[in-house]
Amino acid sequence: MSISEKPVAPGENPAEEQRRWPILQHPRILFAYLVFLLTAALFLFGVSAALVTFTWRDLATFAALVVCAAVCVEAIRRLGMPGVPAGFARDLLGAWWFPAVLLLPPVYSLLIPIPVFILLQFRARRALVHRRVFNGTSIALSGFLTSVVWHAVQGGGIEAGLSGVPDAHESLATGTGVLVAVLCCAGFTILNTFIVVVAARTSNGPGQPLRPMWDREAFTVDAVELCVGVTVAILAHLSLFLLVIAVPPVLLLQRSLLYQQLQMAVRTDPKTGLLNAPTWEQEASVEIARAHSSRGRAAVLIIDIDHFKRVNDNHGHLFGDQVLLGVATTIAQQLRQSDLLGRFGGEEFVVLLPGSDTTEAWQAAERLRSQVGSMEIAVDEVPVSITISIGVAVIGDHGNDLVELLTAADLALYRAKETGRNRVCLPAGGTGVGGGVGGRIPGPRGGEIPGRTASADPGDPTEIP
Ligand code: GH3
Ligand code: MG
Ligand code: MG
Repeated sequence: MSISEKPVAPGENPAEEQRRWPILQHPRILFAYLVFLLTAALFLFGVSAALVTFTWRDLATFAALVVCAAVCVEAIRRLGMPGVPAGFARDLLGAWWFPAVLLLPPVYSLLIPIPVFILLQFRARRALVHRRVFNGTSIALSGFLTSVVWHAVQGGGIEAGLSGVPDAHESLATGTGVLVAVLCCAGFTILNTFIVVVAARTSNGPGQPLRPMWDREAFTVDAVELCVGVTVAILAHLSLFLLVIAVPPVLLLQRSLLYQQLQMAVRTDPKTGLLNAPTWEQEASVEIARAHSSRGRAAVLIIDIDHFKRVNDNHGHLFGDQVLLGVATTIAQQLRQSDLLGRFGGEEFVVLLPGSDTTEAWQAAERLRSQVGSMEIAVDEVPVSITISIGVAVIGDHGNDLVELLTAADLALYRAKETGRNRVCLPAGGTGVGGGVGGRIPGPRGGEIPGRTASADPGDPTEIP
């Protein structure tokens, strides 16, 4: 795996430059992609504007949809919570894109995101300009192409599709017409998601984490947006004044989205996207209680990046953050769906392995250690090596509840650090591998746990259990 974003070189102050031109943080290909999309949108605008006949009725519909979208933007501003991570932000503005696609000639689909995204930027929340431009362009292109298909289907040709068929929306009064509209709008959603996924892949670089764009949650929101959008289009087709009764339910649905976003924000660590410590602890204790009561197996790993302070000191905190994300992603890629991974604190991660006995937990920990150790990270093409130390504790052998297991795993981690780092250790007294230390076992971070004694000889690795 590699970290493709330009790291911070010593003595360099990229923050200033990035503040002015944040897109410079991304690979050039992303910039080229944005320019390509913008050029395509401008070209299509030129072609379709030349073909369309502007009418007062269309202009009035366009203005009414923009006003409704502006009311939604204002509601987003009022509800807006600065703590909600940008990546999770979702809205129901599709409720106004879809009617524009279905009721107006395609050129309007290219235009409608412009006022709405300007309002979003200045009224709701300031975002990086290139992201706003990208999102707006993606909506514009997806809307335009969908509208061309919708009009072409109604009018029977590509030219009719490009210029718009004046009475295309009449078919919204029939069941077949509504079905075609739903299919077209689903195409819009797929196309828009595709454009965004390509950008996310490009900006992340090969091997970098790719957060799922279409998990169950996103799928539900997209489906609701589609249903609302087509319903609003049918209402507006009957009479523009009916938009007045469409706005309140859209606002209410939008408000319910915020609840989901907040729930997500409360559960996750914004830097790595992993579960945060309280959420991990809550979910892990339920899993451990279940394993304990059914005499099942489960293991806890505490993972700590070795000499991470040096990484920060030598290459800067921004680079340190990228390493954190890289380590988190590498670990996540190695785990099973049922495993529970969280960020415990600074440069520490915790994993719960349900159903794992000592051997399996050991093997999993070794796999994580070796994968993180082989991550390819470079600063100015000079490789930087990252290693981790891992403490392992298994239910039954080293503790019976989460607190006991975490204490035992922390002791084991301490042993791993004491005996040279870049290794996996079990708590003293248990069977284990690597760097056993004799004598009294130090407590977490240097204290001593009275009455517990290490069984392994100094420097004499014990057998894999
Ligand atoms: P050891 O091998 O003993 O674990 O050494 P270490 O340097 O990793 O451990 P230490 O506890 O001395 O330092 C942890 C460092 O982790 C210090 C802190 O600045 C850094 N850190 C904690 N959280 C973050 C973060 O979110 N981002 C960055 N870049 N650094 C962090
Ligand atoms: Mg630490
Ligand atoms: Mg550390």
